[in-house]
Amino acid sequence: MAATKVSLKLLIDAKAHKVLFAEAGKDFVDFLFNLLSLPVGTVIRLLTNETMVGSIGNLYKSIENLNEDYMQPNQNKDLLLKPNPPTSVSNVPLLLPDDRVSSAATKFYTCQYNSLDYCYHRCVTNKAGTNCPSCCCSMSTELPFVGPVNKNATSTGEGGYVRGLVTYMVTDDLSVTPMSMISGISMLNKCNVMEFDALQEKVVEIGMDEGLKLLKGSLKSKAVLTYVFLGKEEAKEADGAS
Ligand SMILES: [Zn+2]
Repeated sequence: MAATKVSLKLLIDAKAHKVLFAEAGKDFVDFLFNLLSLPVGTVIRLLTNETMVGSIGNLYKSIENLNEDYMQPNQNKDLLLKPNPPTSVSNVPLLLPDDRVSSAATKFYTCQYNSLDYCYHRCVTNKAGTNCPSCCCSMSTELPFVGPVNKNATSTGEGGYVRGLVTYMVTDDLSVTPMSMISGISMLNKCNVMEFDALQEKVVEIGMDEGLKLLKGSLKSKAVLTYVFLGKEEAKEADGAS
């Protein structure tokens, strides 16, 4: 699948070197909301090369290093290290790498009689050559796999989590609300913007690099957009008090 790009309009205070807020469409909000559905194991795997906060990365490494012989015979380390997302919502922008073996890569087979319209044997296997319980023939006719499709996606053509045709305001600390003139002005007030000529509008593109940075930033920073798009680490913890 081609790399997804999502664009985002930022309002930047150039003097304070800070992103005040972003004007976002449905696609960016869907990406942010989808972060909550990621299993912890997936988050650690995605961030493991970078500095992982806390000790949970060590837990991950312990499982990685543990010999399979210590695991219960019916358990697989990959279930913990590469968990499947609990829900699969269609049309969420793919801004995070996926190194799992996708279900699309699993092949399913049936017996040759299933391809005849007067005969239907209700069995599939993921191991080609298994005998069909109905006719004892070898099940080696490959069946196309169809992934789950969100029902809403077919009725509205949208998918994802939130409605389109709405502009959302995403603040530096990732609060998401529908955008309005009033919410924009009150945000400027809240950020103590005095000099309006210091305000700049900037459109940025978000690909997988930025997607990963957003995930990382969301776990450790209260100034995520500034961190990702202006390359500035959060100055002080004391900032959170204001
Ligand atoms: Zn059969």
